[in-house]
Amino acid sequence: MAVDIGRSISEIVAAGERTYSFEFFPPKDETGAAQLWQAITELEPYRPTFVSVTYGAGGGTRDLTVQITERIARETTMVPVAHLTCVGHTSEELNTILDELDVAGVRHVMALRGDPPGGPGSAWTPTEGGFSHASELVRLIKARAGAATRVGVAAFPEGHVDAESLEQDARVLREKYDEGAEFAITDMVLRASDYVGLLERADAAGAAMPIIPGIMPILGLRSMERMAELSRRELPREVVDRLTPLADDPAALRAEGIQIASELCETLLEAGAPGLHFYTLNRSKATREIWDNLRIEVPTA
Ligand code: FAD
Repeated sequence: MAVDIGRSISEIVAAGERTYSFEFFPPKDETGAAQLWQAITELEPYRPTFVSVTYGAGGGTRDLTVQITERIARETTMVPVAHLTCVGHTSEELNTILDELDVAGVRHVMALRGDPPGGPGSAWTPTEGGFSHASELVRLIKARAGAATRVGVAAFPEGHVDAESLEQDARVLREKYDEGAEFAITDMVLRASDYVGLLERADAAGAAMPIIPGIMPILGLRSMERMAELSRRELPREVVDRLTPLADDPAALRAEGIQIASELCETLLEAGAPGLHFYTLNRSKATREIWDNLRIEVPTA
């Protein structure tokens, strides 16, 4: 069931419905744009609760987040969520982008700090006149006149790479909740037990919002290992053990990756996940395959 302005994601979850959502990123060129809109078109019939569009770490794609979410709001039946980060922006610039999103009819924002320009784990230097923590961006959004925008935030199944401890990590989530965040989406979940641990820590810290697990199937072992390394994580041994024997057979490896992701989704939903958030990488096929494996019913209008 898609969210309208009247129903927030937390209200949908409170009503006992699951949320299903898809994430896209702004393309770098024409070919990428065609691929993105093909994926969006192929996934629209699944009637996701919302679709989100990431915000570039810098460079040329940043304006595209507003443009793409605006087009989703205007041309599709789907509810767009625009990501926004504090990287390189003053609070005035962030306010200007939020004004643009308002005009574009985008009513949901993922409020993020963003990674330091040196990558995850390197030192963070705030922009003068800007923010150091995502909680400050949540506060800015909720303090705006009308304050109609619904805010989501990031959560981390294994704790954020720079968190002092898992408890401090949960306190940060509580801070974002206290500032007005209504839901959280996690970094890609590698192990269901990490996600369950996060739910327990968030609950103990009083971060009483839905925390939706992020899903990214492994379709290539080396590329996924590199991606995990970049965020200073490691693929679980049991997953690597299932995929390594298939390293020379890309089709079999991909099929096993889809199977592993489908099993993970089932375990997460059984463990109480309020829904699933698919990192699509601007392609629809893997998400559709997992969706079919899980036999998720497409909601009626
Ligand atoms: P914060 O909540 O600010 O946390 C960052 C660090 O600061 C943590 O170590 C935290 O423990 C610490 N901290 C926070 N508050 C305090 C405080 N008050 N006192 C002391 N320490 C504190 N990046 C992009 O560039 N574009 C995107 O579109 C994007 N989308 C994302 C979507 C999801 C679902 C996720 C999980 C991540 C996304 N990211 C994106 C990456 C994200 O920006 C980075 O992981 C970033 O390093 C942390 O962002 P945050 O919003 O969690 O920051």
